[in-house]
Amino acid sequence: MERSEPGTRIASLIERARKGDIRATGRLLSILERLDSEAYALLDELRRMAGKAHVIGVTGIPGAGKSTLIGRLISELRRRGYRVAVVAIDPSSPISQGSLLGDRLRMQEYSVDPGVFIRSISTRGLRGGLSTAALAMVEAFDALGYDFVIVETVGVGQAEVDIAGAAHTIIVVTMPGAGDDIQALKAGVMEIGDIYVVNKSDKPEAAKTYEFIVFSVEKGDLEASSGWTPRVLMVSAVMGKNIDKLIDTVLEHREYLERTGLFRKRIQERRRLLALYAVRSYLNTILDKASRRIEKEALEKSIDELAHSVLAEACRSAGEKNKL
Ligand code: GDP
Repeated sequence: MERSEPGTRIASLIERARKGDIRATGRLLSILERLDSEAYALLDELRRMAGKAHVIGVTGIPGAGKSTLIGRLISELRRRGYRVAVVAIDPSSPISQGSLLGDRLRMQEYSVDPGVFIRSISTRGLRGGLSTAALAMVEAFDALGYDFVIVETVGVGQAEVDIAGAAHTIIVVTMPGAGDDIQALKAGVMEIGDIYVVNKSDKPEAAKTYEFIVFSVEKGDLEASSGWTPRVLMVSAVMGKNIDKLIDTVLEHREYLERTGLFRKRIQERRRLLALYAVRSYLNTILDKASRRIEKEALEKSIDELAHSVLAEACRSAGEKNKL
């Protein structure tokens, strides 16, 4: 078969990655990140093996302590025998905290632990396909046998809203005295949490923030649509305080999701979103190429005529691709 060459290569990469081969896993993720036809074919393969991992979204403003907390979560999950993958998303620039997270964690103890895989992605080179790439990676880690996939976002952009729709459990990380946090809570930006973590509980002002969030939950302002009453926890990521309680709460939420059938439903939602994003990225690429091909006509034609030319060109190239 014509497909057998790349097909065999990918099958062997998947097999090696499922056995814990870090390099094979890295290669698969790099293919996915390209968001081209090979990436989507790979995704179809992976999808068949996925459906078990618990996806945790961790979000909150920069400085709240997300990366410190994620480090602690990894340690505690590993202590309990789970394999953990992290997708760290940096929507702004390759040199901001988001992409440093992975590097920083990778440099630490986890670099030698085959039960942990950390991958940072940034908008650089992805041309708006950030959410697509992130969800594709979640699907991949799930297929490769990781029990937990933690997706870290900075909680300000579209990416985190997109990804929120695809996670099983969302942890919103706040810190004491962060006026912005409270504003964000009020504005509804952060009302997506299943679990609210008031980090830096070693600071005296933490109790006030905790009380405010508990009050908001009791008032119903932060009620999750799934019928789950959000939990609020005081944690100190730096001191490692209450981390076990946080994991217990995540597992309690998982039990709730399974009991109510929501665990499977969220996976379906993730796949629905992934399919939509993938189609959008695919169309954008084709339209982009088609626009560039009719560039010369831009001065002579009306916008309407140009749009028709782009579509005709895009259909032609999509048709050619299908014939291959
Ligand atoms: P991120 O930007 O949300 O990923 O936050 P980081 O994990 O990089 O943490 C930001 C700063 O807060 C760092 O200087 C951390 O050492 C500090 N930090 C994180 N957790 C705690 C905590 O529990 N207590 C205190 N006092 N500082 C913390």
